[in-house]
Amino acid sequence: MTTATQVYTAGLWCSNCGAETEHLVLYAGAYIKEIRCTVCDATYTREAETLRDDFVHDLPKRARRLAHQGVHEIRYHPREFLPHLPQELLVRSLGFCAELYAITATGSNSSRHRAR
Ligand SMILES: [Zn+2]
Repeated sequence: MTTATQVYTAGLWCSNCGAETEHLVLYAGAYIKEIRCTVCDATYTREAETLRDDFVHDLPKRARRLAHQGVHEIRYHPREFLPHLPQELLVRSLGFCAELYAITATGSNSSRHRAR
């Protein structure tokens, strides 16, 4: 299981620097929450409400996909899967909760560029 918040580095074009520079890309679960240029500190932040709306929009589809995976395991590997079912349900549920928490957590207010 991955943590709900992860930071990656990527070479991206910075309009403020006028060049490709290293950026820090902050993910809240499956969603990009913030991108910051490491040279000039220009920051692109997605609003928590927008991330929450995306999460809510995607949640039924993601839950169905997990259910299908569970059905597949129960159908084809029941003896191997069933002992892990309670743990899987708990871990997946907590993962969604952790992701929603990361999405709605307030970040820095140093954003220079905001976008929906
Ligand atoms: Zn820059």
